[in-house]
Amino acid sequence: MELISNYNLSARNTFGVDVVARYFAEVSSVEELKQVLNAPEAAGLPVLFLGGGSNILFTQDFEGLVISLNLKGITENSIDEDTVLVTAQAGENWHQFVLYNLEKNYGGLENLSLIPGNVGTSPVQNIGAYGVEIKDHFESCEALNLKTHQIETFNREQCAFGYRDSFFKREGKGKYVILSVTFRLSKRHHDIKTDYGAIKKELTKKGITEPTIQEVSQAVVSIRQSKLPYPKITGNAGSFFKNPVIDKAHFQELNARYPNMPGYETASGVKVPAGWLIETAGWKGKQIGNVATHQKQALVIINATGKATGKEIYDFSEELIRSIEKQFRITLEREVNVL
Ligand SMILES: Cc1cc2nc3c(=O)[nH]c(=O)nc-3n(C[C@H](O)[C@H](O)[C@H](O)COP(=O)(O)OP(=O)(O)OC[C@H]3O[C@@H](n4cnc5c(N)ncnc54)[C@H](O)[C@@H]3O)c2cc1C
Repeated sequence: MELISNYNLSARNTFGVDVVARYFAEVSSVEELKQVLNAPEAAGLPVLFLGGGSNILFTQDFEGLVISLNLKGITENSIDEDTVLVTAQAGENWHQFVLYNLEKNYGGLENLSLIPGNVGTSPVQNIGAYGVEIKDHFESCEALNLKTHQIETFNREQCAFGYRDSFFKREGKGKYVILSVTFRLSKRHHDIKTDYGAIKKELTKKGITEPTIQEVSQAVVSIRQSKLPYPKITGNAGSFFKNPVIDKAHFQELNARYPNMPGYETASGVKVPAGWLIETAGWKGKQIGNVATHQKQALVIINATGKATGKEIYDFSEELIRSIEKQFRITLEREVNVL
């Protein structure tokens, strides 16, 4: 374990933003992690844990210690003929973990194929796609309490999962680092979910009417590859904003002005696709300097020239938020973690 000073993070964030961390360390065990946290150089400095850097926007150099968690390993615990608990260490790549389970024919995570990032980060914003969120298959996670250096176990209730939200994004932020996550998966009689997005259409194209979990995963991969920019080529962090939830009266008022405005009833109000708002306000594909929204998916802000600074990306998102507020009286909330 080595503490590197003035470490360039451009290859460690999927926006490809060129920033420097005062100190950087990669750790491969919990012991190494504790050593780094106790390093005299880092005393009193802010600490940032980094997975795949696919949900983070650095707007300036990080004047602290960045720790990359390279904890690896996957273990299984068969419960019965139907159910298995699979535990992955925080540094396992998320998509590789999904593929591992598909190879074993363990069902549950197939709709979450090809989401960038690491397993250890997946509970932070309760990653979700195509009608599934990790909370649906989450059993527990282990996290290091950064104050006591004790390992604590969190069950689903304690994680307080919400839409792109959890305890670790709110009260637990900066207090815990997730070390491993355990999922409850099916061994047979899989609950196949194809109703969301274009999954069914993609399967029909291939003549598949009763898909396997592997076929659902392949359909999700095809759809994602056709509409999302690949971060290694075009810097981005996926959806930049959350889909806002507005009250019913507000929705009805907007719906009278925009009859084709989509809205989905939820317990707390009507959820409106942020991508539709951005597109309707004329921002789809719009570029200002080095920053733009993606041509095929308005919700994704991109580092269009590869030269954007984090501040430029942030300012672009501010201007977009103001524009949506003016037109719809809706304030978009960023999904991406801004530093
Ligand atoms: C092209 C693209 C598509 C995407 N599609 C989706 C999607 O469909 N659904 C979705 O939900 N997300 C999506 N995302 C966002 C992103 O992939 C997820 O949020 C992912 O979980 C982030 O993982 P990461 O390891 O890269 O996190 P990072 O960006 O490294 O970290 C994110 C935050 O979590 C904290 N953190 C990192 N590791 C830990 C840990 N072990 N313990 C506690 N805190 C930690 C960091 O400090 C930071 O605040 C997409 C991103 C991209 C680039």
